[in-house]
Amino acid sequence: MKKILFTKPMKAEVAGGYKIPVCEKDEVVLKVLRIGVCGTDIQVYAGKNRYTHFPITPFHEGLATVFAVGAKVENVCVGDSVVIRPIISCGKCYACTHGHENACEEFNCLGVQSDGLGAEYVVINKKYVYRLPKFCSKDALILTEPFAVGVHAARRGQIENKKVLVIGAGTIGNFTAQACQLQGAEKVCICDISEAKVDTARKSGIELCINSTNKTLTQVYENAFGSFPDVIIDCAASKAVFSQIISSAGKTTTVVIVGNYSQTLEVDIAAIQRNELNVLGNITYTEEDFLCALNLMLEGKVYTDGFITKRFALNQVNEMMDYAFENRGINMKTIMDFEEG
Ligand SMILES: [Zn+2]
Ligand SMILES: [Zn+2]
Repeated sequence: MKKILFTKPMKAEVAGGYKIPVCEKDEVVLKVLRIGVCGTDIQVYAGKNRYTHFPITPFHEGLATVFAVGAKVENVCVGDSVVIRPIISCGKCYACTHGHENACEEFNCLGVQSDGLGAEYVVINKKYVYRLPKFCSKDALILTEPFAVGVHAARRGQIENKKVLVIGAGTIGNFTAQACQLQGAEKVCICDISEAKVDTARKSGIELCINSTNKTLTQVYENAFGSFPDVIIDCAASKAVFSQIISSAGKTTTVVIVGNYSQTLEVDIAAIQRNELNVLGNITYTEEDFLCALNLMLEGKVYTDGFITKRFALNQVNEMMDYAFENRGINMKTIMDFEEG
C-alpha cells in the first residue's frame, strides 16, 4: 500500500511498498476514503508546527471504510463507512480523568504528533471511529472534525444568550459562529479581511458578517452590536489582532483562543487584570463535543455548501499541499479522494 510522507518543510511525497497494517483485538483497520486538509496540516507542511517531527504521515480529518476488525470490536463491522475522531488521549492523566481528554498530558493529534490518516490503510482503536448511515453526504461529513472544534469553542465561551464576535472566517471560524448560533447565542457576528470568506459566512446564515479590512475592532463591535460583545472567539491567530483584542475588549469580556499560534507573543497583562478579562485556552474537542458535532451534521443543521473548494487524488499530494499553502488566506477546504474515480 501507499502512504503520504512529509519529509521536510514544503516537501511531500507518496511512498509505496508498505504492508497493510493488522489490528489488535480492540482495533480496526480502515481503508481511507477521503481526507480534508486543514490549517494545522498546512502549518505542519510548512515546518511551522512546533510539535511535529519529520518525516510524518499527515492528516487528521478523514472518512474511511472498515477493512478489518479485531475480535473485541462491536461498534463497527467490515464494510461500514466511518468518520474518525483523531485526537488520541491516554485515559489516565489528570485532564483525561476530569473530562478534558482534549487537554491530555500525552496529547496526540493524528498527523501532527504521530502518523496520521494520509495512507491507503491505517489502524486505530475502535473508540475513535463512528459508523455513518448508508445514505449521508460524505462531502458534509468530512467536515465533522473541524465543526467539532467550533462546538467546543462555543461551549468554552458559554455563549448562551450572549453577544459573540468570532474573528476569522475560515472553516474553523465559520463553524464556530454556526455552532454559537445553534447553541443559543443571542447574536453572532463574524469578521474577516477576506471578502470571499465573509461571503461564505453570509451564505452560511451567520447573522452578522463584516469585512473588517481597514476597520479597528472597536469599529467592528460598534457596527455589529452597538456596544461590546460579551464573548470574543479568536480564530485568526494573528499577533496584531490578539493585541487589539486585549486592548479593545470591554470589561469582563470572555476571550477564547482557538487559532493555533506558531509564535510566542507579548501580551498586555495589566489590561487583562484591570478589565477582569476571562482569557481561555481552547484545544480541539472532547468526545462529547465530537458526537454533538456529528449529530448536528447528520441532522443537516450545519451549512457546508461550497466549503470544499478543491479536490485532489493521492498522486497529486504535492500539488494539493502547494495549492492549500498558497491559497490559505482565501481557501475554505481542500480534500483528497483516495478511492478510484
Ligand atoms: Zn482539522
Ligand atoms: Zn490523558
